[in-house]
Amino acid sequence: MHISKLFKDKVFVYSFEIFPPKAVYPIDSIYTTIDELSELKPDFISVTYGAGGSITNNRTAEIASIIKNKYSIEALAHLTCINSTQEQIDHVIKDLKKKGVENILALRGDIIEGGEPLGIFKNSQEIIRYAKENSNFGISAACYPEGHMESKDKSIDLEILKLKEEAGAEHFMSQVFFDNKYFYDLLDKAEKKGIKSPIQAGIMPVINKKQIERIISLSGCTIPEKFIKIINKYEYDKVALRDAGIAYALDQIVDLISSGVKGVHLYTMNNPYIAKTITNSISSILASVNNQD
Ligand code: FAD
Repeated sequence: MHISKLFKDKVFVYSFEIFPPKAVYPIDSIYTTIDELSELKPDFISVTYGAGGSITNNRTAEIASIIKNKYSIEALAHLTCINSTQEQIDHVIKDLKKKGVENILALRGDIIEGGEPLGIFKNSQEIIRYAKENSNFGISAACYPEGHMESKDKSIDLEILKLKEEAGAEHFMSQVFFDNKYFYDLLDKAEKKGIKSPIQAGIMPVINKKQIERIISLSGCTIPEKFIKIINKYEYDKVALRDAGIAYALDQIVDLISSGVKGVHLYTMNNPYIAKTITNSISSILASVNNQD
């Protein structure tokens, strides 16, 4: 089933992101994680794609296939294009089709410093259009509540979002954010721009200080004062910081659901404990919202 159909069938869509284990670890190490996540009954699970040509990319299709075929949970395979040749992209698309995966998150990917793009796809619209014309995948794409790191003018991001939809994206997944106002602002502007595809909020529970530093450097997202206080207060107490990070994410999620957003995608970081704690805490809310007419 296409992810966009899930949004038509449900009031609220709740899903998880996982990443393939590094090449030095056996692939089986992810299966226990999927096993535990599947018990939480997410609407779909997405699997990330490494930057260009790494072995973990082959694992994306394999893991997505396990999610879809063994657990009967819809799978969304991430696919980046900037560091791949057309042959590599064709190979991945063929492999995903063969494995019965029905959805891809079509991305440009990050430009490797000093590296030249390898193939013919220079931005996300090009891979979206190519996948649309050459397959029956449901196509998702990325969006950025605080703007993409490379964008000098945030209004351009909205133009790009519209271009992604016109190219064939039927669902948008957001970059992580820690202040819901950025997401509401994006929803508002997208609506004014006539963008109809559902926009799902990406939420990441932060459980250590290193993680937050990495997120800032990769996404450039803003950390609100309230959250900085929490990190500084508990940075040397692992359990307290984990619990405070989960509580912060829960607060964001409850606010998002209560404000009527269409879905939340939880960046699980392959940590079933986090996913379980959050999902169990909102189980009555999820049941309530999806029982509404
Ligand atoms: P694009 O939409 O192409 O945008 C990239 C930049 O180019 C933006 O600044 C945009 O404004 C500009 N731009 C785009 N089109 C045009 C145009 N026509 N004219 C002018 N400017 C243009 N990375 C991975 O390597 N693996 C993953 O699995 C992965 N998963 C992700 C999941 C989500 C939900 C998100 C939000 C990001 C993910 N990323 C992943 C990171 C992503 O690859 C980077 O953010 C990348 O820099 C941009 O990808 P994009 O598809 O949004 O690119």
